[in-house]
Amino acid sequence: MLGETEHRTTISFYQYFHIDDPKGFRDLLYSNLNTIKVFGRIYIAQEGINAQFSVPDSHFENLKEYLYSIEPLKGVRLNIAVDDDGKSFWVLKIKVRDKIVADGIADPSFDMRHKGKYVDAEQFNKLTDDPNTIIVDMRNHYEYEVGHFERAIEVASDTFREQLPMAADMLKDAKDKNIIMYCTGGIRCEKASAYMLHQGFKNVFHLEGGIINYANQVKEQGLAVKFRGKNFVFDNRLGERITDEIIAKCHQCGKPADTHVNCANDGCHLLFIQCEDCKNSYIGCCSIECKEIVLLPAEEQKKVRKGIDKGRNIFNKSRARLRPKLSEMGKKQP
Ligand SMILES: [Zn+2]
Ligand SMILES: [Zn+2]
Repeated sequence: MLGETEHRTTISFYQYFHIDDPKGFRDLLYSNLNTIKVFGRIYIAQEGINAQFSVPDSHFENLKEYLYSIEPLKGVRLNIAVDDDGKSFWVLKIKVRDKIVADGIADPSFDMRHKGKYVDAEQFNKLTDDPNTIIVDMRNHYEYEVGHFERAIEVASDTFREQLPMAADMLKDAKDKNIIMYCTGGIRCEKASAYMLHQGFKNVFHLEGGIINYANQVKEQGLAVKFRGKNFVFDNRLGERITDEIIAKCHQCGKPADTHVNCANDGCHLLFIQCEDCKNSYIGCCSIECKEIVLLPAEEQKKVRKGIDKGRNIFNKSRARLRPKLSEMGKKQP
Protein backbone atom coordinates (compact mmCIF):
# COMPACT_ATOMS: atom_id res chain seq x y z
CA MET A 1 0.00 0.00 0.00
CA LEU A 2 2.69 2.51 0.98
CA GLY A 3 4.66 1.50 -2.08
CA GLU A 4 1.87 2.50 -4.40
CA THR A 5 3.08 4.97 -7.01
CA GLU A 6 -0.01 5.47 -9.14
CA HIS A 7 -1.61 8.89 -8.97
CA ARG A 8 -4.90 9.13 -7.12
CA THR A 9 -7.80 11.50 -7.50
CA THR A 10 -9.54 12.76 -4.38
CA ILE A 11 -13.30 12.91 -4.64
CA SER A 12 -16.16 13.90 -2.38
CA PHE A 13 -19.88 13.54 -2.75
CA TYR A 14 -23.01 13.20 -0.68
CA GLN A 15 -26.53 12.15 -1.41
CA TYR A 16 -29.63 12.08 0.73
CA PHE A 17 -31.72 9.02 -0.08
CA HIS A 18 -33.52 6.52 2.05
CA ILE A 19 -31.48 3.44 2.91
CA ASP A 20 -33.52 0.67 4.52
CA ASP A 21 -30.57 -1.40 5.65
CA PRO A 22 -27.53 0.85 6.20
CA LYS A 23 -25.40 -2.03 7.49
CA GLY A 24 -26.10 -4.21 4.46
CA PHE A 25 -25.49 -1.29 2.12
CA ARG A 26 -22.27 -0.54 3.92
CA ASP A 27 -20.93 -4.07 3.52
CA LEU A 28 -21.75 -4.21 -0.17
CA LEU A 29 -20.19 -0.80 -0.79
CA TYR A 30 -17.11 -1.77 1.16
CA SER A 31 -16.48 -4.91 -0.83
CA ASN A 32 -16.96 -3.15 -4.18
CA LEU A 33 -14.87 -0.08 -3.38
CA ASN A 34 -12.16 -2.18 -1.79
CA THR A 35 -11.80 -4.13 -5.05
CA ILE A 36 -10.94 -0.96 -6.94
CA LYS A 37 -8.53 0.21 -4.21
CA VAL A 38 -10.53 3.14 -2.92
CA PHE A 39 -9.19 4.73 0.29
CA GLY A 40 -11.18 7.16 2.34
CA ARG A 41 -13.85 7.94 4.89
CA ILE A 42 -17.48 7.24 4.12
CA TYR A 43 -20.52 7.62 6.35
CA ILE A 44 -23.76 5.78 5.75
CA ALA A 45 -27.02 6.46 7.56
CA GLN A 46 -30.64 5.74 6.91
CA GLU A 47 -30.84 9.24 5.40
CA GLY A 48 -28.02 8.78 2.88
CA ILE A 49 -24.29 8.81 2.25
CA ASN A 50 -21.43 11.29 2.76
CA ALA A 51 -18.12 10.29 1.22
CA GLN A 52 -14.57 11.56 0.85
CA PHE A 53 -12.07 9.25 -0.75
CA SER A 54 -9.32 8.77 -3.28
CA VAL A 55 -9.19 6.37 -6.20
CA PRO A 56 -6.22 5.34 -8.39
CA ASP A 57 -6.60 7.07 -11.75
CA SER A 58 -6.78 3.77 -13.62
CA HIS A 59 -9.93 2.89 -11.62
CA PHE A 60 -11.64 6.25 -11.90
CA GLU A 61 -13.99 5.11 -14.67
CA ASN A 62 -14.80 1.88 -12.85
CA LEU A 63 -15.64 3.85 -9.78
CA LYS A 64 -17.98 6.15 -11.64
CA GLU A 65 -19.65 3.26 -13.37
CA TYR A 66 -20.14 1.44 -10.10
CA LEU A 67 -21.54 4.42 -8.22
CA TYR A 68 -23.89 5.34 -11.06
CA SER A 69 -25.14 1.77 -11.17
CA ILE A 70 -26.65 2.36 -7.72
CA GLU A 71 -29.99 3.87 -8.72
CA PRO A 72 -30.20 6.78 -6.20
CA LEU A 73 -26.58 7.74 -6.99
CA LYS A 74 -27.05 7.83 -10.74
CA GLY A 75 -25.48 11.07 -11.99
CA VAL A 76 -24.55 12.24 -8.48
CA ARG A 77 -22.15 15.22 -8.58
CA LEU A 78 -18.63 14.04 -7.81
CA ASN A 79 -16.50 16.91 -6.52
CA ILE A 80 -12.89 16.52 -7.47
CA ALA A 81 -10.37 18.13 -5.13
CA VAL A 82 -8.05 20.35 -7.15
CA ASP A 83 -5.35 21.11 -4.62
CA ASP A 84 -4.85 17.59 -3.46
CA ASP A 85 -1.99 15.17 -3.92
CA GLY A 86 -4.36 12.20 -3.46
CA LYS A 87 -2.51 11.18 -0.32
CA SER A 88 -5.07 12.18 2.27
CA PHE A 89 -6.19 8.62 2.95
CA TRP A 90 -4.40 5.31 3.36
CA VAL A 91 -7.25 2.99 4.26
CA LEU A 92 -10.93 2.62 3.49
CA LYS A 93 -13.28 3.22 6.40
CA ILE A 94 -17.03 3.02 5.96
CA LYS A 95 -19.04 3.69 9.08
CA VAL A 96 -22.73 3.41 9.80
CA ARG A 97 -24.02 6.39 11.71
CA ASP A 98 -27.29 7.72 12.99
CA LYS A 99 -27.21 10.64 10.55
CA ILE A 100 -24.79 11.81 7.87
CA VAL A 101 -25.09 15.33 9.28
CA ALA A 102 -25.82 15.51 13.00
CA ASP A 103 -28.93 17.64 13.33
CA GLY A 104 -30.34 16.98 16.80
CA ILE A 105 -33.78 16.36 15.30
CA ALA A 106 -35.61 13.80 17.44
CA ASP A 107 -38.99 14.04 15.68
CA PRO A 108 -39.51 10.69 13.89
CA SER A 109 -41.84 12.32 11.35
CA PHE A 110 -38.97 14.45 9.99
CA ASP A 111 -38.16 13.07 6.56
CA MET A 112 -35.30 14.03 4.26
CA ARG A 113 -37.42 12.97 1.31
CA HIS A 114 -39.34 16.26 1.64
CA LYS A 115 -36.72 18.86 0.96
CA GLY A 116 -36.54 22.25 -0.68
CA LYS A 117 -36.00 22.91 -4.36
CA TYR A 118 -32.52 23.01 -5.78
CA VAL A 119 -31.35 26.24 -7.43
CA ASP A 120 -28.25 26.59 -9.58
CA ALA A 121 -26.14 29.76 -9.81
CA GLU A 122 -28.30 31.36 -12.48
CA GLN A 123 -31.55 30.65 -10.63
CA PHE A 124 -29.94 31.81 -7.39
CA ASN A 125 -29.03 35.15 -8.95
CA LYS A 126 -32.50 35.58 -10.41
CA LEU A 127 -34.34 34.70 -7.22
CA THR A 128 -32.14 36.94 -5.10
CA ASP A 129 -32.68 39.91 -7.43
CA ASP A 130 -36.06 40.04 -5.75
CA PRO A 131 -35.57 42.03 -2.53
CA ASN A 132 -38.27 39.93 -0.88
CA THR A 133 -36.25 36.76 -1.14
CA ILE A 134 -34.57 35.88 2.14
CA ILE A 135 -31.08 34.41 1.92
CA VAL A 136 -29.88 32.33 4.86
CA ASP A 137 -26.28 31.30 5.50
CA MET A 138 -26.19 27.87 7.19
CA ARG A 139 -22.47 27.75 7.92
CA ASN A 140 -20.45 28.52 11.03
CA HIS A 141 -19.92 32.11 12.06
CA TYR A 142 -16.19 32.08 11.24
CA GLU A 143 -17.06 31.07 7.69
CA TYR A 144 -19.67 33.80 7.35
CA GLU A 145 -17.20 36.28 8.79
CA VAL A 146 -14.78 36.16 5.86
CA GLY A 147 -17.27 35.81 3.03
CA HIS A 148 -20.98 35.49 2.29
CA PHE A 149 -23.68 36.32 -0.22
CA GLU A 150 -25.01 39.86 -0.42
CA ARG A 151 -27.91 40.36 2.01
CA ALA A 152 -27.41 36.92 3.53
CA ILE A 153 -28.60 36.47 7.09
CA GLU A 154 -26.21 34.90 9.56
CA VAL A 155 -27.62 32.37 12.01
CA ALA A 156 -25.04 32.89 14.70
CA SER A 157 -24.58 29.72 16.66
CA ASP A 158 -21.75 27.36 17.36
CA THR A 159 -23.36 24.19 16.03
CA PHE A 160 -25.63 23.13 13.21
CA ARG A 161 -28.02 21.51 15.72
CA GLU A 162 -28.60 24.85 17.39
CA GLN A 163 -28.78 26.62 14.07
CA LEU A 164 -31.81 24.76 12.73
CA PRO A 165 -34.36 25.82 15.38
CA MET A 166 -32.76 29.28 15.50
CA ALA A 167 -33.26 29.76 11.75
CA ALA A 168 -36.89 28.66 11.96
CA ASP A 169 -37.47 31.04 14.85
CA MET A 170 -35.74 33.99 13.17
CA LEU A 171 -37.91 33.58 10.10
CA LYS A 172 -41.17 32.59 11.75
CA ASP A 173 -43.02 35.57 10.24
CA ALA A 174 -41.82 34.75 6.73
CA LYS A 175 -43.42 31.36 6.18
CA ASP A 176 -44.82 32.38 2.79
CA LYS A 177 -41.72 34.14 1.49
CA ASN A 178 -39.06 32.71 -0.75
CA ILE A 179 -36.20 31.48 1.40
CA ILE A 180 -32.90 30.36 -0.06
CA MET A 181 -30.47 28.48 2.14
CA TYR A 182 -26.85 27.85 1.34
CA CYS A 183 -23.69 26.36 2.82
CA THR A 184 -20.21 25.41 1.61
CA GLY A 185 -20.93 22.23 -0.35
CA GLY A 186 -24.70 21.79 -0.07
CA ILE A 187 -25.01 19.01 2.51
CA ARG A 188 -26.11 21.24 5.38
CA CYS A 189 -28.44 23.55 3.53
CA GLU A 190 -30.18 20.61 1.90
CA LYS A 191 -31.03 19.30 5.33
CA ALA A 192 -31.90 22.77 6.55
CA SER A 193 -34.36 23.18 3.67
CA ALA A 194 -36.12 19.94 4.69
CA TYR A 195 -36.22 21.16 8.27
CA MET A 196 -37.81 24.47 7.26
CA LEU A 197 -40.50 22.67 5.24
CA HIS A 198 -41.09 20.44 8.24
CA GLN A 199 -41.62 23.62 10.29
CA GLY A 200 -44.33 24.86 7.92
CA PHE A 201 -42.34 27.10 5.59
CA LYS A 202 -43.72 26.96 2.06
CA ASN A 203 -41.15 28.21 -0.46
CA VAL A 204 -37.76 26.89 0.50
CA PHE A 205 -34.83 26.62 -1.89
CA HIS A 206 -31.25 25.54 -1.44
CA LEU A 207 -28.16 26.19 -3.48
CA GLU A 208 -27.12 23.03 -5.24
CA GLY A 209 -23.51 22.08 -4.48
CA GLY A 210 -23.17 25.12 -2.23
CA ILE A 211 -20.77 28.02 -2.67
CA ILE A 212 -18.14 25.77 -4.22
CA ASN A 213 -20.41 24.85 -7.11
CA TYR A 214 -21.77 28.40 -7.37
CA ALA A 215 -18.24 29.79 -7.77
CA ASN A 216 -17.53 27.31 -10.57
CA GLN A 217 -20.79 28.02 -12.35
CA VAL A 218 -20.51 31.81 -12.34
CA LYS A 219 -17.00 31.47 -13.73
CA GLU A 220 -17.99 29.02 -16.46
CA GLN A 221 -21.15 30.84 -17.46
CA GLY A 222 -19.92 34.41 -16.98
CA LEU A 223 -22.67 35.24 -14.49
CA ALA A 224 -22.75 38.09 -11.97
CA VAL A 225 -21.05 37.18 -8.69
CA LYS A 226 -23.24 37.82 -5.67
CA PHE A 227 -20.80 36.39 -3.19
CA ARG A 228 -18.41 38.76 -1.39
CA GLY A 229 -15.02 37.83 -0.02
CA LYS A 230 -13.64 34.40 0.68
CA ASN A 231 -15.16 30.95 0.82
CA PHE A 232 -13.74 29.29 3.91
CA VAL A 233 -12.67 25.69 3.33
CA PHE A 234 -10.74 23.31 5.54
CA ASP A 235 -7.70 22.78 3.38
CA ASN A 236 -4.23 24.26 3.62
CA ARG A 237 -5.39 27.56 2.21
CA LEU A 238 -8.21 27.89 4.78
CA GLY A 239 -10.30 29.59 2.15
CA GLU A 240 -10.74 30.31 -1.51
CA ARG A 241 -10.95 33.93 -2.59
CA ILE A 242 -14.03 34.63 -4.68
CA THR A 243 -13.86 38.42 -4.85
CA ASP A 244 -11.05 40.78 -3.85
CA GLU A 245 -13.08 42.41 -1.11
CA ILE A 246 -11.89 41.87 2.43
CA ILE A 247 -14.97 41.98 4.59
CA ALA A 248 -13.49 40.80 7.90
CA LYS A 249 -11.12 42.33 10.45
CA CYS A 250 -7.98 41.17 12.20
CA HIS A 251 -9.04 39.84 15.62
CA GLN A 252 -6.01 41.49 17.18
CA CYS A 253 -5.78 45.02 15.76
CA GLY A 254 -9.03 45.43 13.84
CA LYS A 255 -7.44 46.18 10.48
CA PRO A 256 -9.10 44.67 7.40
CA ALA A 257 -7.93 41.04 7.14
CA ASP A 258 -9.46 37.71 6.25
CA THR A 259 -6.66 35.22 6.70
CA HIS A 260 -7.46 32.49 9.18
CA VAL A 261 -4.55 30.99 11.06
CA ASN A 262 -4.14 28.51 13.88
CA CYS A 263 -2.32 29.90 16.90
CA ALA A 264 1.35 28.90 16.72
CA ASN A 265 1.21 27.66 20.32
CA ASP A 266 0.45 23.95 19.89
CA GLY A 267 -1.25 23.88 23.25
CA CYS A 268 -3.74 26.45 21.99
CA HIS A 269 -4.12 26.08 18.22
CA LEU A 270 -6.98 28.58 18.25
CA LEU A 271 -8.41 29.35 14.81
CA PHE A 272 -8.63 33.10 14.32
CA ILE A 273 -8.11 35.94 11.83
CA GLN A 274 -4.71 37.61 11.90
CA CYS A 275 -3.20 40.36 9.71
CA GLU A 276 0.41 40.30 8.52
CA ASP A 277 1.58 42.90 11.06
CA CYS A 278 0.10 41.04 13.98
CA LYS A 279 1.47 37.80 12.64
CA ASN A 280 4.93 39.33 12.94
CA SER A 281 4.52 40.97 16.31
CA TYR A 282 2.78 37.97 17.91
CA ILE A 283 4.90 35.43 15.99
CA GLY A 284 1.73 33.73 14.80
CA CYS A 285 0.14 33.53 18.25
CA CYS A 286 -3.33 34.56 19.35
CA SER A 287 -2.24 36.32 22.55
CA ILE A 288 0.68 37.48 24.67
CA GLU A 289 0.25 34.40 26.85
CA CYS A 290 0.68 32.11 23.85
CA LYS A 291 3.57 34.16 22.53
CA GLU A 292 5.36 33.77 25.87
CA ILE A 293 4.80 30.02 25.72
CA VAL A 294 6.20 29.55 22.21
CA LEU A 295 9.31 31.45 23.25
CA LEU A 296 10.00 28.82 25.95
CA PRO A 297 12.23 25.81 25.23
CA ALA A 298 10.28 22.81 23.85
CA GLU A 299 10.49 20.87 27.14
CA GLU A 300 9.05 23.77 29.10
CA GLN A 301 6.24 24.13 26.58
CA LYS A 302 5.23 20.52 27.12
CA LYS A 303 5.00 21.07 30.88
CA VAL A 304 2.80 24.11 30.42
CA ARG A 305 0.55 22.22 28.03
CA LYS A 306 -0.12 19.39 30.45
CA GLY A 307 -3.69 19.23 31.67
CA ILE A 308 -4.94 22.10 29.59
CA ASP A 309 -8.24 21.54 27.87
CA LYS A 310 -7.85 22.65 24.29
CA GLY A 311 -11.58 23.13 23.97
CA ARG A 312 -13.01 23.59 20.54
CA ASN A 313 -10.08 25.60 19.28
CA ILE A 314 -12.11 27.96 17.21
CA PHE A 315 -12.47 31.63 17.86
CA ASN A 316 -16.18 31.53 18.42
CA LYS A 317 -18.55 33.90 20.03
CA SER A 318 -18.90 32.19 23.35
CA ARG A 319 -15.17 31.72 23.57
CA ALA A 320 -14.56 35.35 22.70
CA ARG A 321 -16.58 36.30 25.75
CA LEU A 322 -14.50 34.12 28.01
CA ARG A 323 -11.14 35.28 26.77
CA PRO A 324 -9.59 38.65 27.41
CA LYS A 325 -10.17 40.78 24.35
CA LEU A 326 -7.37 40.15 21.90
CA SER A 327 -7.36 43.75 20.72
CA GLU A 328 -6.96 45.08 24.25
CA MET A 329 -4.08 42.77 24.95
CA GLY A 330 -2.46 43.89 21.73
CA LYS A 331 -2.47 47.51 22.87
CA LYS A 332 -0.66 46.70 26.08
CA GLN A 333 2.35 44.96 24.70
CA PRO A 334 2.42 43.52 21.22
ZN1 LIG B 1 -3.71 42.84 13.08
ZN1 LIG C 1 -3.11 30.86 21.36
